Amino acid sequence: MAKADFNVQGGRIFYKGELIEAGIAVQDGKIIKVAKSASLPTAGETVNAKGLVILPGVIDVHVHVRDMSQKTKEDWTTASHAAAAGGITTILAMPNTSPPITTARALKQYKTIARKKSVVDYGVFIGATETNTRELTTSESCGIKLAMGSTTGNLLVEKTEKMRSILETSVKAGKTVVVHAEDEEMIKKRFLALKKRGREPPPKIHSVIRDPEAARIAVSRAIRLSKQTNAKIHIAHVSTRGELIEIVNAKKDGLLVSCEVTPHHLFLSEKDYDAKSHKLKVNPPLRSRSDVSAAWGALLEGIIDCVATDHAPHVLEDKEQDYWSSPSGLPGLETMLPLMLDSVNKSMLSLAHVADLVCTNPAKIFRLKNKGKIMEGFDADLTFVDLKREWKIRGDEFKTRCGWTPFEGRIVSGKPVKTMIRGAIVFEDGDVVGGRGREVQFK
Ligand SMILES: [Zn+2]
Repeated sequence: MAKADFNVQGGRIFYKGELIEAGIAVQDGKIIKVAKSASLPTAGETVNAKGLVILPGVIDVHVHVRDMSQKTKEDWTTASHAAAAGGITTILAMPNTSPPITTARALKQYKTIARKKSVVDYGVFIGATETNTRELTTSESCGIKLAMGSTTGNLLVEKTEKMRSILETSVKAGKTVVVHAEDEEMIKKRFLALKKRGREPPPKIHSVIRDPEAARIAVSRAIRLSKQTNAKIHIAHVSTRGELIEIVNAKKDGLLVSCEVTPHHLFLSEKDYDAKSHKLKVNPPLRSRSDVSAAWGALLEGIIDCVATDHAPHVLEDKEQDYWSSPSGLPGLETMLPLMLDSVNKSMLSLAHVADLVCTNPAKIFRLKNKGKIMEGFDADLTFVDLKREWKIRGDEFKTRCGWTPFEGRIVSGKPVKTMIRGAIVFEDGDVVGGRGREVQFK
């Protein structure tokens, strides 16, 4: 029998859709066998997982890593440390950095920084603009990010034409287009009208300015274009009933549409706005309780394919400006898995479903090679969790540079305690202990 570098033993592992008592043999960073202890190959070492549940490494497909001119908010070191601490083994990074990633060259440079600093595996999206269609065919990206209608002054038809050509290009390039779907024109009009009045509005105004209809219209347009071009689209951060109805219908029609929901749209609502602080300003905004329950309903029915953080850190100093200046975005890398595990403990959904949402489906949607499952031949990316550990969420204990969390003080059950990437332990007992991130490969 082949010899393993080490065997993971004593835990319950998530294998082929269920939790079983078994061990995992690892050699050269790959899983070579999953079996009962007696059937594992001999190994030089044993990783003891007694009392723990082992999930496939968690994959977060929506992360704003920042770095470059925004290092004060976050960089590849702190973002990847936060990911590892949150049980996340792979992150897909967004291109709306400063400077933005809209050329193959900028993409390569950004990945060079990632290669040096990241302790978790990674991919990077290229951002679509009105003029960079040719750059989008690069094989260097993990996908194309499209912020719908983010430019102003153009006629709707013109913009739609641009979007169509971007989607057509994505088909040629074999890439999924991640769509931020909010109708910018609608939003801009309301924003300017409000600003004219000159008063400082309350934080909850954000949910009025970027209302559910602005999201629904944009999702509907994206789906129409996907149907016309046969492009594979992934709707980022769905948050409303209206969007979900559009998505259900698209899926029924057999279109190539997938979608994600963020933890803040599942676990926070408009009711959480603080009367004085813009801390919870995020795009799309927090929604009504009715939209939150629609998101949960769609999640449970399998309409939502994955949960992703949309981790978008800003330091509190930036957030605590007035409404007009406060930047949108919330940190989330260290709270996504704990909140999902807590929901399992509260019997809101099954652990198998969580594994689908944060491990298996993300890998499937973005065609990540050898990721998303505990299976022979796959990377030994493992997220060890103490499913019953009760703890209090505290932003000042987090690795993200922004140092705060919208879930401050929440008591949850379930904690990632050890993170392994390609056979190397990266996070253990509260500390990042090593790790060298590598770019993901595609199937
Ligand atoms: Zn985002």
